[in-house]
Amino acid sequence: MIACDVLVLGGGIAGCTTALHAAELGADVVMAVKDALGETNTTYAQGGIVGLPGEEGLDSPELLAQDIERAGAGLCRPEAVELLARLGPTLCRDYLWRKLGVPFDIDGTGAPESTQEAAHSARRIYHAKDATGRAIQEALNQAVRDNPRIRILEHSALVDLITVPHHGRDPRKVYDPIQVWGAYLLDTTDGTVQMAIAKRTVLATGGLGYLYLHTSNPPSATGDGLAAAYRASARIVNCEYVQFHPTTLYIQGKPRRLLTEALRGEGAHLVNGAGERFMGKYAPDQMELAPRDVVSRAIFQEMASTGDLCAYLDLSPLKATLDLEARFPNILEACRQEGLDPLRQPIPVVPAAHYFCGGVAVDSQGHTNLPGLLAVGEVACTGLHGANRLASTSLLEGLLWGFRAAEAAVEDCRVTSLIPCEELEPWHPPTNTLVPDPLLIEQDWNSIRTTLWNYAGIVLQCGRWLGAAPTLTLRAACRS
Ligand SMILES: Cc1cc2nc3c(=O)[nH]c(=O)nc-3n(C[C@H](O)[C@H](O)[C@H](O)COP(=O)(O)OP(=O)(O)OC[C@H]3O[C@@H](n4cnc5c(N)ncnc54)[C@H](O)[C@@H]3O)c2cc1C
Repeated sequence: MIACDVLVLGGGIAGCTTALHAAELGADVVMAVKDALGETNTTYAQGGIVGLPGEEGLDSPELLAQDIERAGAGLCRPEAVELLARLGPTLCRDYLWRKLGVPFDIDGTGAPESTQEAAHSARRIYHAKDATGRAIQEALNQAVRDNPRIRILEHSALVDLITVPHHGRDPRKVYDPIQVWGAYLLDTTDGTVQMAIAKRTVLATGGLGYLYLHTSNPPSATGDGLAAAYRASARIVNCEYVQFHPTTLYIQGKPRRLLTEALRGEGAHLVNGAGERFMGKYAPDQMELAPRDVVSRAIFQEMASTGDLCAYLDLSPLKATLDLEARFPNILEACRQEGLDPLRQPIPVVPAAHYFCGGVAVDSQGHTNLPGLLAVGEVACTGLHGANRLASTSLLEGLLWGFRAAEAAVEDCRVTSLIPCEELEPWHPPTNTLVPDPLLIEQDWNSIRTTLWNYAGIVLQCGRWLGAAPTLTLRAACRS
């Protein structure tokens, strides 16, 4: 059994920031991650994180807030937008760059270089070439490993949140409000489950993209924390808002790999199989810089009307102004590994499930409706993104809410005593000793992923589509 002040479940930008800052404020922290530390969506983030603009006067919290609201289709929570726009960019510079030393690309003045991204009205995105998330995750990993107040449990998966009355021994607790006291954790190397009890538990388990057939997310993004919170009766909101990234590399039979927004931000064009630039038909004002949902639907619509299996991203407009080898080395390399020459030929792309805008409903400090439970990062819904996330805001949201949740959790710990473990049920191993059939499990996974893609994807349901009529060709193409 483990006991601590703050139990953090997940070790991406949100979990690591929470763990670090809680430890900095004096808490004893345990951080459990399902796989090895660093196997996160954060590591895969390419484009960047909203920072401060290179030149003063070119941006403002109000302008950033407007961009977030516009992308969110008017469904954002104003308090969350205002908070992030006011505090986020400065925190990004001060904590990630100045304090943790994240190696963002630097401009001529020695400050982080700010680049442009789609649907942003200013150049305000910090980046580390085209592997920004990896640079951030590595700096965070180092910092959590170096902090003696943080105990890291790798290969340690949340099975269920421990709540009273559900896991309490006293049946009369059923009359009290539900309280979260930690989690049951599965050691995935030996199959044992142990109890981790904590004064405060912070869910930071990330998103659920891997529940979809086509996704930019890694296999760990299966919505475990969301499911556990739901079982514990936490309030879940906005689950219908799953964001699809418009441009993932389309190679038949291979996992989809994201091609960052920054390519379009810097001037790449979308063309159809005939080489015609088509965004003018769907978003004449913003063209390729329209928000993700608009571009994703436009690509689908174009594929539907042309019968093409994919659209194409043409990098040739960038060649005159940008050193592509220096700016996007990982993307160029990924294309070349597939036998493509992205400097000479347009890159085949399709949309894929990318980001979960909904989640466990939280306030401005990460508190959920369940006493004892906080949530941060992609598993949480702060209301910042509304119906659709503006590019490069989710890393910042994880950072800011991680910071604020740490402060709230440590404050709560000061007035909370740990529940005696005798009052809780230990984990009861299953009595059925049959070994599960891996083929059956694989089959169930395929069924879940196909069902979500077909019935909770860009296409609403058979024969109905957001915006235009789908064709069977299109739907078949998406399955390949
Ligand atoms: C390809 C790609 C590119 C992206 N590019 C950008 C970008 O440029 N800018 C931007 O702002 N956002 C980007 N995003 C989105 C962003 O990366 C994520 O929203 C963000 O990293 C989520 O951070 P997180 O800390 O909430 O979760 P994650 O970073 O996903 O971390 C989740 C953690 O939870 C752990 N976990 C999961 N289940 C369990 C369990 N059962 N028990 C214990 N631990 C568990 C995992 O092991 C992991 O440590 C991108 C996403 C992808 C996939």
